[in-house]
Amino acid sequence: MKRYDALSLFSGGLDSVLAARTLMDQGLSVLCLHFVSPFFGKPGRLVHWREAFGLDILALDVGQEYVRMLSDGPAHGLGKFLNPCIDCKIFMLDRAVALLPEYGAKFVATGEVVGQRPMSQRLDALHVIRRDSVAREVLLRPLCAKRLPVTPMEQSGLVDRERLHAMSGRSRKEQLELAGRMGLPEVPTPAGGCMLTEMESVRRYFPIFIHHPEPGATDFELANIGRQYWAGPLWLTIGRNQSDNARLEAALAENDLVFKVRDHPGPLALARRLPGAVWDEAAIRDAAAFVASFSPKARLAGKETAVSVGGAAMSPVWAVPARETPLSWREPAWDEAAGDKAALFAARRRNRELGLA
Ligand code: SF4
Repeated sequence: MKRYDALSLFSGGLDSVLAARTLMDQGLSVLCLHFVSPFFGKPGRLVHWREAFGLDILALDVGQEYVRMLSDGPAHGLGKFLNPCIDCKIFMLDRAVALLPEYGAKFVATGEVVGQRPMSQRLDALHVIRRDSVAREVLLRPLCAKRLPVTPMEQSGLVDRERLHAMSGRSRKEQLELAGRMGLPEVPTPAGGCMLTEMESVRRYFPIFIHHPEPGATDFELANIGRQYWAGPLWLTIGRNQSDNARLEAALAENDLVFKVRDHPGPLALARRLPGAVWDEAAIRDAAAFVASFSPKARLAGKETAVSVGGAAMSPVWAVPARETPLSWREPAWDEAAGDKAALFAARRRNRELGLA
């Protein structure tokens, strides 16, 4: 296996490219680590990034552990939406440090820049991340190193501090100039895109935290698909098009129920049975009527239609298509969830500490 001097966190954003290339320009060998979860990561871009930027990049699926960290209630809290940026950075650094021996690497690098992001890159936040991560003595931030205390890697001469940078603030000017000097063939967007910072995504995720004591990565992968509807703890995902339907088929888990209008074109719908959610006959009939309402022809017919229900050995169910049903299926709204956010995650954290979840 190839050995490296450093492992560098790599989101695919410009700063992560510049950080790795800064070290490589000193003659150090760098392996970029691209973390993948239901919320971030674009493993499909690896080939392009390797070719465009001349980097060695390894994709690492950390979805399950990341979801556990988030659902346990991150120690340093959440940002504007469901982004646990400080704990996220600590999580990634800890994972990277654990990989150092495997690659013979001596330190971990990041593309952080002092003052660039409100939550995780304020100077005090950078100190907290260093303090609370196991990377403490082996963490180097090449883009703003000259604004931070000298690290052991610089002291020992492994890294030439003079060839590191002193970037700070939210302006992209210095990064763009450096990208130009490095001759990058393209300038990636600032960061790789994280769905925990997007309202459209977090409104989909929040009900899972309310209703599932121990969610897994596949739950959030499902929440990324199609239309999301909830009736209390009952959860229904409805495909919007062929692509959604194919993704739903791929997402199907052992205990899921699949709904499909039998005699008319219509979407696929998947009900995930969460712990404590009672999918009795009435609930299945209700969901069948709701799913059938997404089939224009079934709705036009205006009478009972057959809805196949897979996974429960009880097909088909006959139901009149109806958008308003006794269970009142609703798409989750972030505005309603936001007020409960701090309390919910604090309670989750408390339960975890008490061993109740
Ligand atoms: S934006 Fe997302 S990926 Fe980036 S640090 Fe925050 S939680 Fe982590």
